[in-house]
Order: sequence, then structure tokens, then C-alpha cells
Amino acid sequence: MSAVISETGATSAATGNVAVDSVKKAQKLAFENNKLEKRLFRLTGQAIGDYNMIEQGDRVMVCMSGGKDSYAMLDILLKLRERAPIDFSIVAVNLDQKQPGFPEHVLPDYFRAIGVDFHIENQDTYSIVKRVVPEGKTTCSLCSRLRRGILYRVAGELGATKIALGHHRDDIIETLFLNMFYGGKLKGMPPKLQSDDGKNVVIRPLAYVRESDLERYAEYKQFPIIPCTLCGSQPNLKRGEMKALIRQWEKQHPGRIKSIFSSLSNVIPSHLMDAGIHDFKNLRATGQPDPLGDTAFDEVPCGDESDAGIIRIAQFDD
Ligand code: SF4
Repeated sequence: MSAVISETGATSAATGNVAVDSVKKAQKLAFENNKLEKRLFRLTGQAIGDYNMIEQGDRVMVCMSGGKDSYAMLDILLKLRERAPIDFSIVAVNLDQKQPGFPEHVLPDYFRAIGVDFHIENQDTYSIVKRVVPEGKTTCSLCSRLRRGILYRVAGELGATKIALGHHRDDIIETLFLNMFYGGKLKGMPPKLQSDDGKNVVIRPLAYVRESDLERYAEYKQFPIIPCTLCGSQPNLKRGEMKALIRQWEKQHPGRIKSIFSSLSNVIPSHLMDAGIHDFKNLRATGQPDPLGDTAFDEVPCGDESDAGIIRIAQFDD
């Protein structure tokens, strides 16, 4: 009898421990999610402020692909709008490109559920791309060109003053290296720029946000993600290569990505070689000391705490 009592006691103690463990886990997860949410709001708000992305009276067209980045962008912008000191409106827009199997009800259902103003633009670019691009060739460049033109037109029709895209910090760094490695250009992806048709202003409110944070946020919020493989196109291998390279660097040298990203807002044209942005031809010594002047034989500064670049990195800290 005593053996039975002792076994029962041990079992209930074990059950109690499991319950305590799961409560602790749930509390830790809630704490982490709260921290994540605050970080996303802070970094997005900071990027919007730094580049004056959204102004009083703006109508922001939030481009929704159904991927994690666009869901997160819409979610964060809607919440930031509630606390913003300025008035602006949001319209969520999805371009239904008629890819086979595209679940066309998912986004409208989501928009209705959260009560956001929205527009679905139906344009069968899928058929055009399939008809025009020879079998086996990549379809992305024509597809994106068509999409861009349609979205610019829709922005005009909806009276949007800004077009918000969900590109994040990793997209920006990948683009920088893609342009350097394959395009021979020092060119990234700006947080705010006039569109190439000169009629719209494109903004990227997630410019300071890490992709891994967006992945975690999408999981936490349980966004109804639409897969991005419906068009049957090959994934962009070069971008994948950049992504892998950047992730490997970060693993081997923590902080490197932060430093690279920081360098994008800390450019010194006189230390590059573009005669179009620095007048090398007419350069003469002025006789005045210049902290940005050439230090000739000195070592290139490396991780010097007093270096201005390091100070700027701090603004993107977790
Ligand atoms: S992956 Fe498909 S939908 Fe996306 S740009 Fe390429 S062709 Fe278009």
C-alpha cells in the first residue's frame, strides 16, 4: 500500500514539474515576443523618422504579396499610425497575377478581418510572362517590370502619395553585394526614392529590420502566408548565394552585417573613385587640415572605438 502511495505521489510531483516548466516556457516566449514586437516598432519608427518617409496627410499604399515581410509591414504600420503624432491613411494593395493555385480569398479575408482599407488588382501577368519568355529562361525580370508598372498606375488611381515596399535590412545588403559582384556598381536599395516614372515616392519602412526578426514575427502573429513558388519560376540563385554568404559572415564574425549596413549611411565620396560625385580633377591642397583628408601611409582604421562609423553602428543595436 505504501509503495502505491509513494508512486502516486511521485507521479503527481512529476506532473506538477511539467506544468511549472510549461508555464515558465510560455512566460519566456511571451517575454521574447514582446521584446521582438517592441524592437520592430522602434526600428521601423526610427527608419520612417530618419528618412521622413511618411508625412502629414499621406496616403500610404502598402504593397502586399502575401509573404511574411509585407504582412509584418502592414501590421506594424497600422499600429504605428495609432500612436503617430501625424495623420496618414493606409490602403493595402495586392496584385493578383493569376498564378495557378493562387489562393485569392486569403488576403481579402485577412484585410476584412483586421478592418483595413484594401484593393485587389486583378491582372493576368502570369499568362503574358509565360507567352513571351522562352521556356527555361528566367521570368522574373519581365514579371517585375509588369508588376511595377501596374502598381504605379494603381497608386495614382487610389490617390496614394507613398508606395511602401516590405524590403528589409538583409534585402538591402544582398542588393548592395549583388550590384558590386555582378553589376560593377556601388549601389544599394534606398529607404526612400522617387520611382523611375517620376510620379511616385517609394518607401521601405522595414529598412532597419533583420529578416530573422520578421520570420519570428510572422510565426508569432500566425500570418496566413501565401507561398511564393506558385509561378513555378526558379529561385533567384544569385540572391540566394548572397544570402548564404552574408549569413555565413555573420556566423563567423558577429557584428559584420551591422557594420556593413552602417557603412551605407556613412559614405565618404572623396575616398572612393567616382569622379562624378567628387571633383578629383580640380583638387588642390587648401593648406587647411582636413579630418577626411588622406592619411597616406597610416594603417586603414580597423575597429577603432573612436571611429565615427562605430558610433553610428550603435543606432541599429538590438
Ligand atoms: S518569382 Fe515568379 S512572381 Fe516573383 S518575380 Fe519571379 S516570376 Fe514573378
